[in-house]
Amino acid sequence: MKCDRCENAATYSRKYSGESLCSECFSNSILRKAAKTISKHNMIQNGELVCVAVSGGKDSLALLHVLSKMAENHNFRIHAVTIDEGIPGYREEALDIVKNFCNSLGVSHSTYSYKDLFDLTLDESLKMRENEKTSSCSICGTFRRRAMDHAAKDIGADVIATGHNLDDTLQTFLINMTSGDTNKIGWMDPDTSENSLRKIKPFCEIYESEIVFYAFTNNLPFQTEPCPHMNEGIRTEIREFLNRMEGSHSGIKNSMYKSILRVSQIVKESDYKERIKCSNCGCECTGNVCAVCKMIVDLKDR
Ligand code: SF4
Ligand code: ZN
Repeated sequence: MKCDRCENAATYSRKYSGESLCSECFSNSILRKAAKTISKHNMIQNGELVCVAVSGGKDSLALLHVLSKMAENHNFRIHAVTIDEGIPGYREEALDIVKNFCNSLGVSHSTYSYKDLFDLTLDESLKMRENEKTSSCSICGTFRRRAMDHAAKDIGADVIATGHNLDDTLQTFLINMTSGDTNKIGWMDPDTSENSLRKIKPFCEIYESEIVFYAFTNNLPFQTEPCPHMNEGIRTEIREFLNRMEGSHSGIKNSMYKSILRVSQIVKESDYKERIKCSNCGCECTGNVCAVCKMIVDLKDR
C-alpha cells in the first residue's frame, strides 16, 4: 500500500483517521502535531530554556528527539534532566541510555537524585511506609514533581516539559475519578501559566501507540525494562480497558480527551486555591505544609 502523502510505501495505518503513511510522513505528522499543541497552548515562548524530563522510556526519548529537532529552527533551548529515584537494577540502565542519547543529539544533561534532595531513596521510603495503601507511585510521583521543580530552577529553566501522552492523561483522569481525588482533575488543565514554573506536555494530544511507533521507526534507544513497581496500582488495568474501547470504537480516546480538557478547566476554576509558601521548606503550595514535607515527616516519624 502507498503512503497517502507521498510515493513511498506505507508503514503505518492511522485507524482513527483512515490514513496510511510511510515512516517519514508519519514522523513529520508527529512533529507537526506536537508543534500545533505547543502553539495552541502557548507552551514555549521565545528565548526560553526548556527543562526536558527524560527517564529513558519511549515517551521521554521521543519528546527529547522532537524538541531537539524543533529547537534547530525555533528560538528556544533545551536541557535534559533525569531523576534518579533510587530503584536498584532499574535506573542505572536508563541513565546510561539517556546520557548516550543526549550526547548523540548534542543536548546538555543533568541528573538529580531523591537521596541528595530528600535524604531518602525510593526504596528506603517504601521500606518505611506503614500503610501499604500508599502506592509506590504516589510516593514516587510526589517526590518526582518536587525534584523536577528543583532541577528546573537549578538549571535556570522557564518551563518543564514531560513526555506524557494522550493515553497517560485519560488514565490519570480515570485514576483520579476512581480514587475520589477530584481536585487533582483541576491540575490536569494544560494551561499552567499561573505557576511560577510552567509544566507542559507537548504529546498530550498524541496516542501512546503513535509514540511507540515513532520511537521504533526513528530507532530511539529506549529502555524496555519496566519499573518493578509499575503494576502495583490500577493504571495498567485502566490502560488495557481504554485500549479495548479504542479497538472497538476507533477515535474514542480523542473524544474522551476533549471532554477531560473541559472538565479539568471547570474543576480548576471552581476549586481555585491561593498559592502560599510551605511553612517548612518555603515552596509554593496550597496548604500550610506542602505534600512533600508532609510525606517525608510521615515516613520518618515511623
Ligand atoms: Fe516511580 Fe511508579 Fe514510575 Fe516506578 S512506575 S518510576 S515507582 S512513578
Ligand atoms: Zn509518505
